[in-house]
Amino acid sequence: MSYDKQKKRITIKVVPHSDGDMITFQIPRIIPKLLISLILICLIGSSFGFFFYYQQSNEALSTIAHLESVKKQNKRLKSRLHTLSQEAKILNTKFKEIQKTNKEIKQLINFDTSKQKISKKEGKNTYSDAQQVSLNNRYELSSSSDNNHIINLVNNTANNFSKLETLFPKEKLELKELKSSVIEYNDYLASKPTGWPLKTEEKRITSYFGYRTHPVTGERTIHEGLDIGVWYGTKVYATGAGKVIYAGWKGGYGRAVVIDHGYGFRTIYAHNQRLNVEIGERVERGDVVAYTGNSGRSTGPHLHYEILVNGKPVDPLPYLK
Ligand SMILES: [Zn+2]
Repeated sequence: MSYDKQKKRITIKVVPHSDGDMITFQIPRIIPKLLISLILICLIGSSFGFFFYYQQSNEALSTIAHLESVKKQNKRLKSRLHTLSQEAKILNTKFKEIQKTNKEIKQLINFDTSKQKISKKEGKNTYSDAQQVSLNNRYELSSSSDNNHIINLVNNTANNFSKLETLFPKEKLELKELKSSVIEYNDYLASKPTGWPLKTEEKRITSYFGYRTHPVTGERTIHEGLDIGVWYGTKVYATGAGKVIYAGWKGGYGRAVVIDHGYGFRTIYAHNQRLNVEIGERVERGDVVAYTGNSGRSTGPHLHYEILVNGKPVDPLPYLK
């Protein structure tokens, strides 16, 4: 073997402790270097590997912890959502009750009135809007955590709240209008001629409203009021609140009182012996305005009671009830 070739190799000698031949073999000089390099590469590689594994497992642990807290929060939110959904449902029910009452009152005050102004206030309500607000049982929170279900519940609850938010001010306005209508209606009821102008039991209708042969002139004319036969000096009461627009002698009516009640109503109390009010005086229903007699074109003591609606005499009989 040449010297150059021997330089590239190393000799390994194995000497046994017992008797035997020494084993000698040669290997290329590069082999130990390669072995050491391989060991180093393995060590570095496994260090990196361990580092990455450690990092990954740490991340996984923190992700699990985060998920746990999200899960807990989710549970809390579900419970809150459930409460909100219930609250929206209760609010909706209460709101519908208010609307129902509102409607009922409106119907009540529109009953038996020809008043344009009052009836005009009907019509514009928001019940159709309100009907859109519906909370159904299908949006109830179930134990299953179906995401779509939760999203639906959230959306519907939010939607219901926002609808209620819009409807409440509208309803408030409606109620405000209703209040003024009720006040006005109360005034109307207080003013409208109602009941008998005489409270005594000692009375009877002697002549009705309509065409008749006049007891004095003998002509067939329209009798524009109701004659109630009653003895002299009986108290005559205003049948509604209003203002005295006439109190004094009034031709054939004799001593008469005319009250303007507003809302197109006027009442006339005629043939009195004595008057108890003056022009311009404000009277309430039940106030004594005169005492009966036989003044003017009259054949005996009685009260001529007349009701005018927008200037036209009407039959007082239905108003006595
Ligand atoms: Zn008469």
